[in-house]
Amino acid sequence: MTDSAREVPTVSDVVGALDLRYPRTWAEEWDRVGLVLGEFDRGVSRVLCVVDCVPETVDEALTVGADLIVAHHPLLLKPVSSIAPDTYKGRIIHRLIRAGVALYAAHTNADIANPGVSDALAGRLGLTGLRPLVAARGAGAGGGRGIGRIGELADPMSLADFTSFAAGRLPGTAAGVRAAGDPKTVIRTVAVCGGAGDSFLADAVAAEVDAYLCADLRHHPASEHLAAGGPALLDVAHWASERPWLDEVAAWLREEFAIEALVSDLDTDPWTVHAVSPSKELLN
Ligand SMILES: [Zn+2]
Repeated sequence: MTDSAREVPTVSDVVGALDLRYPRTWAEEWDRVGLVLGEFDRGVSRVLCVVDCVPETVDEALTVGADLIVAHHPLLLKPVSSIAPDTYKGRIIHRLIRAGVALYAAHTNADIANPGVSDALAGRLGLTGLRPLVAARGAGAGGGRGIGRIGELADPMSLADFTSFAAGRLPGTAAGVRAAGDPKTVIRTVAVCGGAGDSFLADAVAAEVDAYLCADLRHHPASEHLAAGGPALLDVAHWASERPWLDEVAAWLREEFAIEALVSDLDTDPWTVHAVSPSKELLN
């Protein structure tokens, strides 16, 4: 670390370091990553790391006096023709600019990074011997980078127990964790993917893991996967699967710069209520 890095960094300094750690060329072609808004020469004393830049996390950023928000999900993924303050995203943009808060997004480039989003998820579950579920190709190839991670549990356990274990280890949400497969199946090798993971079901089958944990699984792909003899599935809240990465990126920011890096624990998962049917409560 250089002495200059110990001085108050600018948005440009922090963004430059983030871009080196999560090069924009590593992102999927459809993705939109990097600095969304903010003045390059403004000082950064405090950063708030969030999964989603939504009105509630903007409130939090303003309350804690953040100069920069590092978000996982891009605020502007699809083209817009207006950021008028009477639009949902326009209002967010106006509030941030007025308050002088910069916004940066690291999305699929952070997913494949090593360490990246799925390393943090795997770390929460205590998985060891991590390797990518799908090795990165193109600009991000090499260096152990890729989508998802595969690792081993120190102590194998049944699917039922692993489901409870995951619910206890991951950030708490109303949705919790649900699993598909025989509750008694022994789980030792696990694939994880932060965020929506159903496009990698075939990769989990090919990897011959005992279970695959990700978010946003759907009825037909999950049913057909299991009917074909695929590994057990664990469906977790999208926010919970990506929230662990915030700790890792915040710790790295604190090491790189003399700044305060805070992590938002505001659950931005849209699912806020969960009930188990009374007749099913005794099944596990
Ligand atoms: Zn996501």
